[in-house]
Amino acid sequence: MSPAWRRALEWAPALTAGALALVVARAFGPAAAAPALGLAPLAAGALAAALHRPFGGAGLGLGAAALPLGAASFGPAGAGLLAAGAALAAELLHRGLRRRLATEREERRSPLRLLAAAGAAAAAAIAGAVAGAAGPLWGLAGYLAVLAALELVARGAREGATARDLLAALAGPLALAATGYAAGLAVAAAARAGGFGLGLALLGLWAALAAEAARQALFRAASERRLGDLLEANREAKRRQQAAEPRQVGIAAEVHGECRKLLAPAWFQFDLFPREGEPQSWCARGEEEPEPGEAVPPAAPPALPGFHRRPAWRVLDYPLLAAGARVARLRLWCDPRRLDPAGVEALETLLPQIATRVQGALLDREAREDPLTGAVLRRHLERRLALAFAGAVESGSPLAVVMCDLDHFKRINDGHGHAAGDEALRRAAAVLRAHCRERDLCARYGGEEFTLLLEDTGGQTALEIAERVRRAIAALEVPLDGGTTLHLTASAGIAVFPEVQARGPDDLVQLADAALYEAKRQGRDRCLLDLGGGRFRAADGSVVEGPGARPPAAAPRIFA
Ligand code: GH3
Ligand code: MG
Ligand code: MG
Repeated sequence: MSPAWRRALEWAPALTAGALALVVARAFGPAAAAPALGLAPLAAGALAAALHRPFGGAGLGLGAAALPLGAASFGPAGAGLLAAGAALAAELLHRGLRRRLATEREERRSPLRLLAAAGAAAAAAIAGAVAGAAGPLWGLAGYLAVLAALELVARGAREGATARDLLAALAGPLALAATGYAAGLAVAAAARAGGFGLGLALLGLWAALAAEAARQALFRAASERRLGDLLEANREAKRRQQAAEPRQVGIAAEVHGECRKLLAPAWFQFDLFPREGEPQSWCARGEEEPEPGEAVPPAAPPALPGFHRRPAWRVLDYPLLAAGARVARLRLWCDPRRLDPAGVEALETLLPQIATRVQGALLDREAREDPLTGAVLRRHLERRLALAFAGAVESGSPLAVVMCDLDHFKRINDGHGHAAGDEALRRAAAVLRAHCRERDLCARYGGEEFTLLLEDTGGQTALEIAERVRRAIAALEVPLDGGTTLHLTASAGIAVFPEVQARGPDDLVQLADAALYEAKRQGRDRCLLDLGGGRFRAADGSVVEGPGARPPAAAPRIFA
């Protein structure tokens, strides 16, 4: 079943509730509509919760149910009051259910939902007055007109809704409402023939079915949302894995966390200005983790339920200054309807502290990282390698070292200039970092030679990673001044402890370096994994021998 039809079907109980109440009241007088009033709220409230009607589906369903009674007993004004009261009660039920499912916190916080529900109910009351004055068919027509108008406004307010979407959203519910009305007439006829008790019993049966359908819809909607959240979390984890600089994202994430606690900004933008190297930017939407890039907030905050104008964003823009220097810039896009002035004040008080921390993180980074490529410096690699080697000796899990060197880099410098060389280096380093998991390390070993330190990674996997890196570097297109592009290649050598014998971390690096040397010797643009004894495995699985290859150790002969 298409989602549009499923949505339409979920409307059925609320619509039929209104129609039935109308018909029962007409057939037996307003008092007979009371059971419908008692049961319909359950169904309509649960349904509204399931559907997240922005215009108070509960209000609509209940308003319609309350109308015949109100119109007959108290006139149109009384009907409006009664309908609005019933709508509020349903709205509270709706909120209670939503809170239990903990979904869409944003919407839950909005007091405007209540007003919207009351407004919807009052609008339905007008339709009820028409029903009282001109007959139930006219009442139904009024009810459908109100419903259609509200749906159109609600859908129109959502961005990107096309006319086709609007028609699809309306056609189903309207057809079902008409069916509901016909069913109501049938129940009334049965009641007239079989007595009021039969009418009530049929109505009760319907309400029970409606409540069950609504409950199922509610839980299905919640589990779909949870699944959606899970998929999004997964995508996010993948993005972060691919993000080049996990530790620096850490600074942005920390600042974002504080802003979220105080102000819950809808959009977050954080720009870092290191003393050397390029500025870097991160952005985040709502509670999502920051990711590299520029924030792209929509033109205005999202529409809240109800008929009102969307206000402009309130953009809080702060430079973060430490020791007189600007270290970062923080921008927050806040919905002015939700902005807490005390939170703004608290954040502004905290800014100097945040700036000092950001500066500390930048200094820490400068001490560890190469400003040109963002890869860590060699001395930091040595510390990490020593720790990782000790860990591998203790645990027995494999530790891979990949040495990667760009091919004929001197020619690039000589042919295109040092600036082009620098740009090529930066891009190649970004490729290397993007292939690292958060716990891996990418270091600039020297000039245009990089080292990847991959813990818990066996030879075959390390060879595959190196091969992916090699291909990605070969696919790079470095733009040059004249509009042309520059291509480069790289070679890599891999050694894995304890797959090859290494007495210490330096030994392991030397073995990887020897494999790199062999890759260069065999023609460059390739990766070789050291197998020991002067033999190497290439990415295509073939085994090649270096100049000093020894024959493989013979299998022990048991029977001579
Ligand atoms: P091979 O394929 O054998 O590696 O050839 P190659 O030309 O790359 O040889 P080698 O590794 O010896 O050359 C490294 C060159 O990289 C020398 C140096 O000019 C250049 N280089 C080192 N650091 C930088 C840098 O930060 N920026 C630029 N533009 N060039 C650098
Ligand atoms: Mg080189
Ligand atoms: Mg080199």
